[in-house]
Amino acid sequence: MAEVNEGATLLKGGLVVDGSASAGQVGDLLLAGERIVAVRQVPAALIEAHRPQVIDCTGLVVAPGFIDVHTHDDAAAIEKADMLPKLSQGVTTVIVGNCGISLAPMVSDAPAAPLSLLGSTQFLHRTMREYAAAVEAAKPGVNVAALLGHTALRMRHMPALDRPANAQEREAMAADMQEAMDAGALGLSSGVFYSEAYAADVEELVAVASVAARSGGVYATHIRDELAGILPALQEAALTARQSGLPLILSHHKCAGADNWGRTRETLPLIEKLAAGQELSMDVYPYTAGSTVLREDLVDGVIEVLITGSKTYPEMGGRYIKDIAAEWGVSQQEAAIRLKPGNACYFQMNQDDVDRVITHPLSMIGSDGLPHDERPHPRLWGAFPRVLASYWRERGLLPLEQTIHKMTGLSATRFRIPGRGFLREGYLADVVVFDPKTVRDAATFEQPRQFSEGIERVWVNGVLSYTGSGRGTGRRAGRFVRRGQGASAH
Ligand SMILES: [Zn+2]
Repeated sequence: MAEVNEGATLLKGGLVVDGSASAGQVGDLLLAGERIVAVRQVPAALIEAHRPQVIDCTGLVVAPGFIDVHTHDDAAAIEKADMLPKLSQGVTTVIVGNCGISLAPMVSDAPAAPLSLLGSTQFLHRTMREYAAAVEAAKPGVNVAALLGHTALRMRHMPALDRPANAQEREAMAADMQEAMDAGALGLSSGVFYSEAYAADVEELVAVASVAARSGGVYATHIRDELAGILPALQEAALTARQSGLPLILSHHKCAGADNWGRTRETLPLIEKLAAGQELSMDVYPYTAGSTVLREDLVDGVIEVLITGSKTYPEMGGRYIKDIAAEWGVSQQEAAIRLKPGNACYFQMNQDDVDRVITHPLSMIGSDGLPHDERPHPRLWGAFPRVLASYWRERGLLPLEQTIHKMTGLSATRFRIPGRGFLREGYLADVVVFDPKTVRDAATFEQPRQFSEGIERVWVNGVLSYTGSGRGTGRRAGRFVRRGQGASAH
């Protein structure tokens, strides 16, 4: 297709949904260079001045580019820089460094779990500044904003991980945190669920997190326990954030394990109560299966577990552990031990719980996709169109504007990303145009690498980067997004 002149483009006659949750209106959007120039009603004088290429958007929705607030794209943004799994969903910005796992500040040629979730065989970035420079040199297809991972700090500074950090180690971790904030990081993430960080106590977390607080950061956490002990784990996360003075984001909120199904009826009221006293929000992906490293303690013989990759038995990728265990004549836990190290999808959630979290006003959408798995969880390619198709169009559980708000404006606000997430004059031109009648995910557990349908066009910083008919345009315009940057326009 003809290349769009990013000098100026007029998106004409679409339903403009601006990311704020207020009602969409049919109108126009004028983009010029990297910015949005006018929204809804474009004065004739501006059209005269810019002489834009006109794109008819009749019957289509025009929205801010989606922000994937929960990703593990740290290495993918550099090594698989086209970022098609995300661009093809209408995502224009990814937040990396979640769950305590970040590429920086780590130097290693054999990263252990859980850092190995990032897929990269080489960790080369000693500082956030170096990581940011590597992202900018790679010119990814989408913008990248970064959290610093607490587990990465532990693995860097502690010789043994089975205890809390001592004063000297806390100081070294805090110094890295300061460097990251100076380089523009959004804040700190932790994953005290993972054994490498499980021994960390609130004191250790606060010592690092309060550095992020002084620079206006946020704290995102994969809490210690998403199973039976979820309520105290939520309390611990809230306490850590309060003591540090940071806004809290609960990562991929869920009630995992069959014994805990239905317990969002307890967790959501607790979250609301806590949110009355401190800034708190959460992210969520629209599936009943989670995905992480293979761990025998997560294999309970009740839930289905799909092996997405195994170092020891690569041929078992794509098979269910109950079938493998039956074939080997061993228990499912024993099979998990033999298949390690590897990754798996755990069908550990209940649809009603997922629905309650997604429709909750404090939640925003994050894919949690794992871009390096042999057979990735379909959320990597499908999370955002799936929310639009299932929660808005098919089941009507959310209004369109609210659905988009959870993918754009709310996300930018909660993560302190200025100048994006809304269609506003002067904001950066991250824009998606999609067909509300057809938008849907196509990726499945069987066929996880499928382009979503109905995503018609995606602009990143004013550059047309994806079209539904031609796929990636080959033009990559993503940047490293620094906290507080981009605010100059407004
Ligand atoms: Zn996580």
